[in-house]
Amino acid sequence: MASAVLSIDMTALIDNWRNLSAMAKSDAGAVVKADAYGLGLKPVASALARAGARTFFVAMAEEGAALRQILGKGPQINVFSGHMEGDTALIRDADLTPMLNSIDQMLRHVETLPGHAFGIQLDTGMNRLGMEDAEWAALRDVALGQNLTLVMSHLACADAPDHAMNARQLQTFVEMTDGIDAPRSLAATGGTLLGSDYHFDMIRPGIGLYGGLPYVDARPVVSLHIPVIQIRDVSVGETVGYSNTWVARGPSRIATIAAGYADGIIRGMGPSAHLHTGSSAVPVVGRISMDMIGVDVTGLAEEPETLELIGPHQSVDTVAGFADTIGYEILTSLGARYKRVYV
Ligand SMILES: *Cc1c(COP(=O)(O)O)cnc(C)c1O
Repeated sequence: MASAVLSIDMTALIDNWRNLSAMAKSDAGAVVKADAYGLGLKPVASALARAGARTFFVAMAEEGAALRQILGKGPQINVFSGHMEGDTALIRDADLTPMLNSIDQMLRHVETLPGHAFGIQLDTGMNRLGMEDAEWAALRDVALGQNLTLVMSHLACADAPDHAMNARQLQTFVEMTDGIDAPRSLAATGGTLLGSDYHFDMIRPGIGLYGGLPYVDARPVVSLHIPVIQIRDVSVGETVGYSNTWVARGPSRIATIAAGYADGIIRGMGPSAHLHTGSSAVPVVGRISMDMIGVDVTGLAEEPETLELIGPHQSVDTVAGFADTIGYEILTSLGARYKRVYV
């Protein structure tokens, strides 16, 4: 078999959710947008629901409808993009709760689905989604008199605990929501780690569930093992891969492994990327191809059958560092060709 195996540790995932919940002492939702950060919506959301999660967050109504099929009636499914044109039937039929981002969305919602639950997303400085002060002031009293289930906002710099933006957004959120009786939510994973001032009634962790930074104490969830297709000897001066970017300085053993940039292994990470076999690190050599990567296995005592890109020896965030990106991008780029195994 030539497909790499992506193994997802469900016990670690659930532990991460429970530990973040316990830290917050408020309700803990679970963010499962983008196919549960690339790990598979169905197994991930089902396991979280079995563990007791009652509130889920997705980015768009289509994801919410798919999630409702998986979870059935009961859990609340919140949609960050709110109530967009064309979403009405999905929101009604799948019983989704849109986080309304503007007066236009609010009007669309109450006109098309009167009485249907909704949340409000406020902009507290990130300038990405949500109502600003003036909009919120204009419809606050109307909204509070209806089926309003959550008032939320999102932090721009929560992965940097000392950033002054955190306290500024917290203060703005408190000022905008002071005295309302609807439940409030400000913290994703990073905000949860900032402490109890940020927790309000519900936290919304995503990346921390899946073992990524900024949750330093997360249990690792993902490992990725890639089969070796072929190993060859290369003599001094020979090259490996497209464009001859790597030249052997001495007699070398080169393994060709069965994954590439089509599987989310970013081509630009080539020059700094390593894989592992046991505790030995082996470097990528030459260009990363669409479906294959060359790896220098010279000096290994045994020929490996597979090599580990993500696992006990290097984390998702270490791999992200090879490409100068973040764990979120590595996870959500994980290839569709991998065999996903849930353990
Ligand atoms: C993605 C997202 C989250 C989850 O963020 P993490 O950093 O992955 O915990 C929470 N809230 C909003 C609005 C989001 O877009």
